[in-house]
Amino acid sequence: MPQRNDDVTRRRFLRDGLWGACLAGIGGVAGFAAHKGQKVDWLWQIDPYKCTACGNCATHCVLEESAVKCTHVYGICGYCEICFGFFDPEPFDIHEGAENQMCPTGAILRKFVEEPYYEYTIDRPLCNGCGKCVKGCNAFGNGSLFLQVHHDRCENCNQCAIAAACPAQAFRRVPADQPYLLKSVDHV
Ligand code: SF4
Ligand code: SF4
Ligand code: SF4
Repeated sequence: MPQRNDDVTRRRFLRDGLWGACLAGIGGVAGFAAHKGQKVDWLWQIDPYKCTACGNCATHCVLEESAVKCTHVYGICGYCEICFGFFDPEPFDIHEGAENQMCPTGAILRKFVEEPYYEYTIDRPLCNGCGKCVKGCNAFGNGSLFLQVHHDRCENCNQCAIAAACPAQAFRRVPADQPYLLKSVDHV
């Protein structure tokens, strides 16, 4: 059906265009071999397929503002008009007022692209890593929102305090030159 093919092509175009922005947003994905000026071999990271968005990432980091932040992979996002990572289903109204948003800090920005697509971006400094949007996106959407340790903030503690408190054993050490565990289209 021509209409469906057009939709698929358009969605793919939107995703490809925003993929670079996603990588730029989490900072230094490729070639990250040094950590804050120090040579390190291993860094802490979250396996997004194991994380259950329990909330501990917001409260158990040794930093006052958690090093864990929401990350958005546009290659998986459906650009949904009604995003359950963005809208709180209870009460539910398709209106961007704070009372209708899932995010407690207003860290998700919703922008109309073209009918019927909307783009969702994370205002990183506002994100506290609570994972509420992650839960909503996983429950009703494609799971394109997920949590990652952001290495420009993480202290790379010998024993990560969040890893010790993680009920899903989702934390593991990753090589410093591949510091992020991003979801991929193939894995969904
Ligand atoms: S809901 Fe929580 S994890 Fe998601 S963007 Fe907002 S503060 Fe970050
Ligand atoms: S290693 Fe330390 S700074 Fe990094 S996420 Fe874990 S507790 Fe936070
Ligand atoms: S503590 Fe573990 S399960 Fe809970 S939000 Fe963090 S990574 Fe996910």
